[in-house]
Amino acid sequence: MRKQIVAGNWKMNNDLSETETLLNDLKKQVIPENVSVLVAPTFTNLYAAFNSVIDHPIEVVAQNMHQAKNGAYTGEVSAQMLQSVGVKTVILGHSERRAYFHETNALLAEKVTAALENEMTAIFCFGEELEDRKSGNHFELVASQLKEGLFHIAEADWKQIVLAYEPVWAIGTGETASPEQAQEMHAFVRKTIAEAYSESVATNVSILYGGSVKPANASEIFGKPDVDGGLIGGAALNAESFMGIVNAFE
Ligand code: 13P
Repeated sequence: MRKQIVAGNWKMNNDLSETETLLNDLKKQVIPENVSVLVAPTFTNLYAAFNSVIDHPIEVVAQNMHQAKNGAYTGEVSAQMLQSVGVKTVILGHSERRAYFHETNALLAEKVTAALENEMTAIFCFGEELEDRKSGNHFELVASQLKEGLFHIAEADWKQIVLAYEPVWAIGTGETASPEQAQEMHAFVRKTIAEAYSESVATNVSILYGGSVKPANASEIFGKPDVDGGLIGGAALNAESFMGIVNAFE
């Protein structure tokens, strides 16, 4: 059975006291045993967040990291630094990183390697823009993001990978991909992995959907056979709506 995961990507929201408040609200909730619940605060709040949930099943993860071990990279944070504050999982290749910070597939390949070398789990994000979908290029685009950013890893490394399909046109727009569109892409991704690696890698990797997931639409999306959970933005900023999504699995 693949892991079911709901991850809250807080993006550049929540200062320290807001982080503590939201985590305290989440800690009052019962986390179902069949779901891994992750939250990704901003760098400055990772240490406090990690300590806040130290005796709780919620995992604190990072939104990004640099690919180098250390050195003259002003403003950057390495895998080793994340681990030193307890973080073992990192989101890589979010569409906002790709769009606003010019992260390319080639750069992401380096970041994935750095995460794996540091025994971290990478939540690898990918997804097409509206023009790609309109022109029918979305499968090809996603295949190239996977091949160029991820398919250099060894088969054994897939146990440290979680995938997140986030169609850019559905992020923060209120326009969700239909459950059928999510399923269609997730099935395509699994087929692409099976061809490049093996059926067992394709079957075992968790693929999350992200883009305007809310309590009202989560169970229909999570009910699709190749959707193993969600990467949640706006609705993760409130404990009630986030837990509504966490509890949306059948
Ligand atoms: P929204 O849920 O706000 O659409 O954001 C999705 C996302 O980008 C999560 O990483």
